[in-house]
Amino acid sequence: MTDTQGEFELIDWIQQRTPAHAQVPIGIGDDAALLKFNRNGESLVTVDMLLEGVHFTLDTATPFQIGWKSLGVNLSDIAAMGGRAVAAVVSIALPRGRAWELAQGIQEGIDALARQFDVCIAGGDTNTWNGPLVISITALGEPLGNGPIRRGGAQPGDWILVTGNLGGSIAGKHLNFIPRLEEARLLQEHVALHAMIDISDGLAADLHHILDESHVGARIFAAQVPISSAAQAATDGRSPLAHALGDGEDFELLMTLSPADAQSLLANPIFSTHLAHIGEIVAGKTAELIEADGCSTPLLATGWRHSF
Ligand code: ADP
Ligand code: MG
Repeated sequence: MTDTQGEFELIDWIQQRTPAHAQVPIGIGDDAALLKFNRNGESLVTVDMLLEGVHFTLDTATPFQIGWKSLGVNLSDIAAMGGRAVAAVVSIALPRGRAWELAQGIQEGIDALARQFDVCIAGGDTNTWNGPLVISITALGEPLGNGPIRRGGAQPGDWILVTGNLGGSIAGKHLNFIPRLEEARLLQEHVALHAMIDISDGLAADLHHILDESHVGARIFAAQVPISSAAQAATDGRSPLAHALGDGEDFELLMTLSPADAQSLLANPIFSTHLAHIGEIVAGKTAELIEADGCSTPLLATGWRHSF
């Protein structure tokens, strides 16, 4: 960044391209934003930080994709609570030298996704340093219907459904996925979800989060797990099913609900996104994978985790 194109010029540029929003009477430009929440002031809050070298690299992702993803992971978390996203605030540490160019591309990616879901960029913080690109976004939203939908509400007998197709997102989807906010909204209108999570660590790992919080077990039918074409095409020796169960960053919704509600969704789809019945919740603590031939193996919580 030069002296003429610095932090305040960037903030001015962001402010000018940020549309007004009915629920954000005070947005970018003051010391704090003012937000209005509809449901008795109830608000959902979530934050996620993306690090160059961990979540993306600048030679494999465009600034636009990085911006899109950094807001997308947060909107996916709001969707997973059965909520509607209202606003987001953006903290960014830009590497000196390329700061202006990176910031603009990132902002264009953030704005494209924000526009799609009527999310207001209500503020942020802009820094430069001699380090890698770091971007942290906090999203704010409000619950819908009988939400928020927690991880801990699964009950024995529930059916387990999942949106989309799973696995292999590293081939591209992790940079351009559509967070499932619209699906969450429609689900909240039509059925009583018991538990929900978005798949960020991998189907098996994230299912275990629901099982642990709900103190239940599960049976997953291997033949019914929807496998993405990217997982089918993987050539690393792991099976497509292993990719679908273990790969992270699918950003699909994994939910449990009564068999009657699940059957009605499957018989009368409420959105065009694929919805699959992949298993059922059982009493006890064990998670099993049932193969097509009826054999069962333990379903391990494989998936991504940050090592310390
Ligand atoms: P302060 O010093 O009071 O924290 P700043 O100069 O950091 O204010 O920010 C001025 C305004 O610009 C604030 O409304 C802040 O939320 C907003 N802002 C700063 N950086 C960004 C950004 N990257 N994206 C959106 N808004 C931003
Ligand atoms: Mg201030």
